[in-house]
This record gives sequence, structure tokens and C-alpha cells, in this order.
Amino acid sequence: MVELPDKSASFVEWYLAVVEAANLSDKRYGVKGMNVWTPYGLKARRNLDRVLVREIEATGSEAVEFPALIPATEFAKEKEHIKGFDAQVFWVTRGGLSELDVPLVLRPTSETAIYPIFALWVRSHRDLPLNVYQIVNTFRYETKTTRPFVRVREIHFFEEHTCQADEARATERVASNLEAFRRMAAAFALPYIAVRRPEWDKFAGAHYSIAFDLPLAGARTLQVGSVHHYRDNFAVPYGIRYEAPDGSVRVVHQTTFGLSERLLGAIVGVHGDAKGVVFPTEAAPYEVVVVPVTTAAAAEKVGAAAQHVAETLKAAGRRVVLDAGEERPGAKYYRWELAGVPLRIEVGARELETDRWTSVDRLGRKEPVGRATLAADVAARLVAFDRELARRAEAALAASFAPAATLADLHGSRQVRLVGWCGAEACGHAIEQAIDGALLGTPEGPLPFPVVAPASCVACGKTLGVRLAIAGQPM
Ligand SMILES: [Zn+2]
Repeated sequence: MVELPDKSASFVEWYLAVVEAANLSDKRYGVKGMNVWTPYGLKARRNLDRVLVREIEATGSEAVEFPALIPATEFAKEKEHIKGFDAQVFWVTRGGLSELDVPLVLRPTSETAIYPIFALWVRSHRDLPLNVYQIVNTFRYETKTTRPFVRVREIHFFEEHTCQADEARATERVASNLEAFRRMAAAFALPYIAVRRPEWDKFAGAHYSIAFDLPLAGARTLQVGSVHHYRDNFAVPYGIRYEAPDGSVRVVHQTTFGLSERLLGAIVGVHGDAKGVVFPTEAAPYEVVVVPVTTAAAAEKVGAAAQHVAETLKAAGRRVVLDAGEERPGAKYYRWELAGVPLRIEVGARELETDRWTSVDRLGRKEPVGRATLAADVAARLVAFDRELARRAEAALAASFAPAATLADLHGSRQVRLVGWCGAEACGHAIEQAIDGALLGTPEGPLPFPVVAPASCVACGKTLGVRLAIAGQPM
């Protein structure tokens, strides 16, 4: 038995212990921030990718793969971008025994790998829109404390890159991405807030950035993804132009949409509890665990029945594990609860003579499932489980925000704070200093809970141009 730290009192320690105890990642690899994906963790990651691919392809995006190495000459073309990433890149400067003429950057993100080729692909207005994505590993020289899935040096990265005919169409693509993310998050029962980042915190080279933030514990937040509008900031230096229907040559406007395995970190952090991980059904490596609960006399019959239950569910397309090991049922329950399996079916000797089995979901709710209606009953139970998971997460999200009327309210805050902000950068930094974190930005669209509009800036007291902003401590 593993003793997990208390989630609300020591969130980070709890998170690290849960990831390790559930065997989602092995941190013993010899490079800091480069962790090993275990079979169980990789199953979860592939489920996340499956949903991302489904939802982004539904919007007309196609998969591509670009090389991992970028010539320094291409990397340097957009000057804000290089300024933002210069301190974070790994360099390849030698090939075998010789120094390379042009050093290579191991991609920290792929704009500068992709856009020289976009300049060749885009010729005419008929080539637009160009919407492509890739799921690849990117690399960043992270100097802060690394944490599995949340802050790593080798990142499992989903990145969409698009070219649109003009700024308005690029803005429409941003809206389409926000909607795609809404569907992805809903699939994992994850509530979040979309926040427009302040100027000093937007993506390097972007016109503006909208990030998806989740409150985790206290004032802590996790950015799980972001959408960026580039206008023509990259298209000009990379020469991505097209011939318009009227024969004029124009520059494209671009957008990107990025997500990473932080999504898995968010699932662990938001849904997990004192017993371990809680996977929403779509993300779960196994949706159902079947445990025989047997007596010596009935061992053979119970074993065969459990096998039949597992096979029936597999045939219905479920991801199922049958735990027919020697351990006591209680030890198995404990282990699979720690691993976060949404639903357990107990196949017991006493139930052999009935028409039902016992099922217990990961929230501890017990209900029978019919033997003749097994697949349909399990499907219904998983839908109900996801719905309850989402309901609890939404309530927790709403409870993690509180308004702050003065900078003093922000000191040592145990909640993410809603503040009035005049928009001045100096006031933004004063807010960041007070909360010892970040001014995450201004909400994009309505927040998922009622909010009173602030009357004045929490830092300077001005009322002119005051807007609602969010301050927290990014994890
Ligand atoms: Zn102010």
C-alpha cells in the first residue's frame, strides 16, 4: 500500500506520488525532464491523441510531419520568435567529427521548420486555407524544476499551423480552434477557462495568444494549451504569399494551436483523489476491470464467468482488463483504483445464480449490471460516471476562484483571483508581484460561473478602461 500525501494540503507532492504510484511515467532516465513513457502511461497518452486527432480532423485539418532539426538561419528569421526561444533551445553543432557549417536547432516548436516549406506550398488563393497539424516531440531546455507531463524537456506536442487568406479568416480559424478545444476538454470532463494573455506573456511572434488554463489547487493553475493569431508576422519574413483572384499578390495570415501531454497532467491533477488517479472514460487505458470474487468451491465457474464478461465487453469495443491473479480481491480493488480505472465489475460466486453482476465506478458508486444487457449497462454506467466527474470538476473550478479588491488580498492567496485591471503593464506587474505568480490575462468569452464586473484597477484604482483579469500561480 502506498501512502499518498494529502491532495489539498500538499498538491505537488501528491501529484508526483500519484504519477509514480500509478506507474504512468518513469523518471529514472538519465536526462532531467526527459521521462520514460511506461506501457500504462502510453496507453493513456494514445487515448488523448486519438481524441485530439478526431476533433481537429473534424475541422478539416490534415496530418503532416516535419523534421526535428531546423537550420539556425531559418530559426533566426522572425526576430521576436528567436528572442523568445533563444534561451530554451538545444543545439546540434557537430555532425560526426566535423563542426556543421550551419548549426541546427532541435525544434522547440515548429514554425521555423514549417514556414519555409509553406512558402513553397502556397501559390494561389486556391491553396488556401492550408490547415495542417503534427504530433511530434519538441525539445526545450527547461531550467526550472521539471515535473512529469507538466514541465518537461522533451515534449509530446500537438501543433496545428494554418495559412488563411486574410486577418478575418485567421480570426475565424482561432474561433474554430477554441470550439475544437471545447469538445476535446468535454471528452475528458475537464472544465477550463480561455484567457487572452497580456502583451508581455503572449507567444513569441504572435499578434495575440489565447491560453486554456485550469485551476489545480490553491492559486495554482496549469496552462494546457493555447491558440495564437500571428497576423502576417511570420508570413512576411518567410515569404508566404499567394496570388489573389484579382491577380494581386498578398501575404497570408496565420494561426497555430498547441497542446501537449500537460493534458494528461491536468487529468491527473483535476480528477485525482486520495485513492489515486481517476481517468475519464475516453482517456482511460482500461475502461473496465473485471475481478473474479471467488471461493475455492466455485473457482472454476467464477473464472469462466469473469472471462466471459471480459470477452463480451471486448467484443463490444471496450478496453477491458481481466485481473485473474492470485491476490485477494481487496488488494486488486486498491490497485485498480490507484490506476484510475472508471468501472470495476465484480464477478462473484454468489451472483452466479442471479442475472446480474456488481459494478462499482471509480467514484465509489455501486450498481448492478445485467448479464444479458451487459454491454449496454456498462455503456450507460460509463456515461453517468463521466457526467458526475464533469459535475464535480465544474463545482471545484467555480470554487477555486475568488474576487480580490486590493493587492493585499493577493498575498498568500489560496485561490485564483479575479481582479480589476486598467490594462497598464506596470499595474499588471504589481498584480503579479502581489500574488507571486502571473497575471494570466482577460477571459475570452464568459466564465463558467457568475462574476461581478470590477469597478476599478486593483493596483492603481483607476476606473477608466478597467477590465476583469485573472491572477494565479502557473504550475
Ligand atoms: Zn491600473
